[in-house]
Amino acid sequence: MKLQLDPADEAFREEVRAFLREHLSDDVRRRSHIGMHPVHTGDRVWWNEVLGRKGWSAPHWPKEYGGPGWTHLQAHLFEYECRMAGAPELRWQGIRLIGPVIYTFGTPEQKAQFLPDILTGKTMWAQGFSEPGAGSDLASLKTSAVLDGDHYVLNGQKIWTTEANESHWGFFLVRTDNTVKPQRGISMIVLDLKTPGVTVRAIPTINGEPATWEVFLDNVRVPKDQMIGAPGSGWDQGKFLLGNERTASADVEKSWGDLRRIRTVAAAEVRQGRPLIEDPLFVAKLRELELQVQALEWSVLRVLLDAPSEHPVAARASVLKVRGSELQQRISELMVEALGTRGLRLYRRDMAFEPETVTPLWPGHVPGVTVDLLYQRALTIYGGAREVQKNIIAKLAFGL
Ligand SMILES: Cc1cc2nc3c(=O)[nH]c(=O)nc-3n(C[C@H](O)[C@H](O)[C@H](O)COP(=O)(O)OP(=O)(O)OC[C@H]3O[C@@H](n4cnc5c(N)ncnc54)[C@H](O)[C@@H]3O)c2cc1C
Repeated sequence: MKLQLDPADEAFREEVRAFLREHLSDDVRRRSHIGMHPVHTGDRVWWNEVLGRKGWSAPHWPKEYGGPGWTHLQAHLFEYECRMAGAPELRWQGIRLIGPVIYTFGTPEQKAQFLPDILTGKTMWAQGFSEPGAGSDLASLKTSAVLDGDHYVLNGQKIWTTEANESHWGFFLVRTDNTVKPQRGISMIVLDLKTPGVTVRAIPTINGEPATWEVFLDNVRVPKDQMIGAPGSGWDQGKFLLGNERTASADVEKSWGDLRRIRTVAAAEVRQGRPLIEDPLFVAKLRELELQVQALEWSVLRVLLDAPSEHPVAARASVLKVRGSELQQRISELMVEALGTRGLRLYRRDMAFEPETVTPLWPGHVPGVTVDLLYQRALTIYGGAREVQKNIIAKLAFGL
């Protein structure tokens, strides 16, 4: 990354690097570099605790709510350094998604109840927005919440709820009013996923790893003070949350880490008697992607640093989402291309830790590559499908 940093930001970056050198073990780094963390919750929980003790677990949160109070540039530098050092990714749903909603829209009691455990990673969260008939057309969601004394009673079904199986809490969009415009009848409510009436069922995925779940709500009673904001205001909170999700979806840190891994893989793979990394055609493809990621990184920084723009921030967040997810897919395709015919086989990430599976035919840089390529198909779907993001850009940025 070629950023012109002032001395204070340089010193900040050095402080982060020193912290990472001190705290990250080789084992954790190794699991990170082969993309193990999505299937290794232990490392993520541990790392969240380590950062929580230091006050660094929520880089974008203001000091007032337990964040480090960093500038957006510092938060970006921190995330970049963490990824390049091989730190586990933190779970998004608590720190990136519901935490900011709670400190922006929640009551003082809700802030006191939920924010500290989100910061330390003690509670994990799942996002319950999508339903079988309500994905892109989220406003048509049907899961109902009916007031009964001091409780709302929830009935309905959510789908594609990432990590619902191991989450403690969920934030759900529910319908509290059928008589108004669809968006105005939606509310946001948080609930303990151990509440009676909640059933979670796995959805098999293309890469064979558990990732996403269905959640069935059958007469689930939720205290009414667990609604975030006023009844009927859930659409505003949902839009606020999705704006943050889309900006974060660009995930340039992951792209930089994967580009570096491609170099490692291409140095180890041999084609026609020489390392693939010496093949000018392959290197040209790699360099093009590096340039594209660099350009995207500048665009992310322009949004984060609030640089003047003629386009509204929601349109720019959608641009970052589309561009970032497409680039990540292209990067994972090049990584599989680097493996040649080995890329045809699904080679689990955790195989790298079974020494007998690492042979000259299946060397240590292979695990997880094809698995990751298949998972990356979802990037242009979740957080708002690509075609729908393009509609948003057309409308908001170009008035079409
Ligand atoms: C791996 C994964 C994880 C997910 N995690 C979560 C989660 O944790 N929580 C959650 O709430 N949801 C989650 N989702 C759901 C995700 O947000 C939805 O899948 C997404 O919003 C698309 O909705 P849909 O699947 O109903 O598809 P649809 O909305 O039915 O879309 C199907 C296709 O039609 C296109 N399309 C739809 N409307 C238009 C239009 N107006 N113009 C042009 N094209 C259109 C779409 O782009 C898409 O290609 C996840 C999805 C995946 C795949």
